Amino acid sequence: MTGLKFDYDLIVIGGGSGGLAAAKEASKLGKKVVLFDYVKPSTQGTKWGLGGTCVNVGCVPKKLMHYSGNVYNLIHNDSGSFGIKTSSHFDWGKLVETVRNHIRMLNFSYRTGLRVNGVEYINSLAKLEDAHSVSYDNNGNRTVITGRHILLATGGRPLIPESVPGALQHAITSDDIFYLQKAPGKTLVVGASYIGLETAGFLTELNFDTTVSMRSIALRGFDRLCSEKVVDYMKSTGTKFKTGVIPINIEKVNNLLKVTFSDGTNDEYDTVMYATGRYPDVKDLNLSNVGVNINEFGKIIAPKDVTSVPSIFAIGDIVEGRPELTPVAIRAGVLLARRLYAGSDEYIDYDYIPTTVFTPIEYGHVGLSSEAATARYGEDDVEEFLSEFTTLEVAASHREKPEHLRENEMDFSLPPNCLSKLIVVKSLGNRVVGFHFVGPNAGEITQGFSLAIKLGATKSDFDNMIGIHPTDAESFAYLEITKRSGESYVASGGCG
Ligand code: FAD
Ligand code: NDP
Repeated sequence: MTGLKFDYDLIVIGGGSGGLAAAKEASKLGKKVVLFDYVKPSTQGTKWGLGGTCVNVGCVPKKLMHYSGNVYNLIHNDSGSFGIKTSSHFDWGKLVETVRNHIRMLNFSYRTGLRVNGVEYINSLAKLEDAHSVSYDNNGNRTVITGRHILLATGGRPLIPESVPGALQHAITSDDIFYLQKAPGKTLVVGASYIGLETAGFLTELNFDTTVSMRSIALRGFDRLCSEKVVDYMKSTGTKFKTGVIPINIEKVNNLLKVTFSDGTNDEYDTVMYATGRYPDVKDLNLSNVGVNINEFGKIIAPKDVTSVPSIFAIGDIVEGRPELTPVAIRAGVLLARRLYAGSDEYIDYDYIPTTVFTPIEYGHVGLSSEAATARYGEDDVEEFLSEFTTLEVAASHREKPEHLRENEMDFSLPPNCLSKLIVVKSLGNRVVGFHFVGPNAGEITQGFSLAIKLGATKSDFDNMIGIHPTDAESFAYLEITKRSGESYVASGGCG
């Protein structure tokens, strides 16, 4: 069809992080662009507006609930020590209202953003017809439009294992938790990666009785020491972990969900939430008939963002081998538009992409885990520098036993709430190949340091850095104790 006139230069299917970014950039570059976005309801019937996962059921509501948990914790467990007397009441309905209102404002601003940038927006489920055509339901009429290029950016959805009786019927997912009208109450979270731990973290901080069902290890693929620190801290502040088991049956008994686990035990919960991974949302796209290849997990094979059909592109969570992160999808969208319409040849560099898990103490990292560095460079070539300490503010406040543990007789002592770690490769001139921080505001701290790591900072660059006192991040200027030495890396006086 090359040489023929198309209705559009670019048809984008999916109005999430990647699709919106690509559509707006292509339009700014003078191209005629249309964007489709349509939200299929969750398994429990939840629906939302324009903007995709991050805005509606991901990063944004999650961060707001994480913040709510932090505020609750400060008020209930720390404020007394700092001379603030409070009496407060937590209202789940108000939290959900605040989150929803903010999301609605963002939905509106995305619509406006498309209009201002001259992108046509169609709120309908789109499907490929051939290499240059897309069809959709236009008020009851099947309509076909053509584009020189088509971009697939349809993201992912939560996966509930259908093999567990009652799971699909009774369990919620991250597509529902942020919109629950009624407080979740006693909750079981199944899965112990980003979504499972983040959700269990804010629910615990908000004083809900919360259990994580973890079938193997937490945060697979992350640095083990740091992941274990996150879990230990969560345990010490009240999150329960059922380890080495999975639910095998879920049934409703007297308005509660009775969960039977693979070790034969059972318990009752008000809410069960599955956080057992996500599947690429591609089944409505008609990929196989058009010749777009996918892998065994349903992810689109698109090296350099081009699918097996040269006029069809794919970015974001649906693409094989890409980190499922919003800034990655956005950058991929912007760079693709520039390559297609501005003569650019720039691609994302997938090395050294920073990320943070927003658990009660956050865990941010960029670069390699200890395990990955050792596997790549060999044990002798890798040096790890560590420091574990308690934040000045927490040390001074002698943080009280969290409210939900007060009836429990057990002694309460918080482990140090910070862990700083650098992983260095000697044969690369002591280049820092892994930066890890577990502690408050790890997301903010890691974002700043990620630039230095990407630019090739060495251990001596860190040693020459002047700290900002008193902060947690200054610990990276003073790291001396290596893991190899076997010495304790727990700082006696804490920071400051
Ligand atoms: P999406 O944002 O998922 O957008 C795809 C859109 O396409 C959706 O609106 C979908 O409804 C629509 N669509 C699907 N099929 C069709 C069709 N046939 N026609 C029309 N429209 C269609 N990332 C971070 O970087 N930081 C975080 O803190 C973070 N937290 C997260 C927390 C949770 C609970 C979750 C679930 C994810 C989180 N993520 C986070 C990941 C992040 O949200 C995703 O990586 C990102 O949204 C992916 O963008 P995308 O453009 O690939 O797809
Ligand atoms: P993941 O695929 O990362 O983890 C799934 C978890 O569920 C693992 O703990 C896994 O255990 C467990 N699991 C899988 N199947 C089963 C099962 N059948 N029964 C019990 N447990 C099971 O998924 P997430 O949903 O947590 O996150 C998806 C992606 O979203 C992340 O990779 C991330 O890129 C993105 N995200 C980013 C965030 C951020 O930037 N802060 C926050 C949230 C999401 P096992 O290890 O044994 O396989």
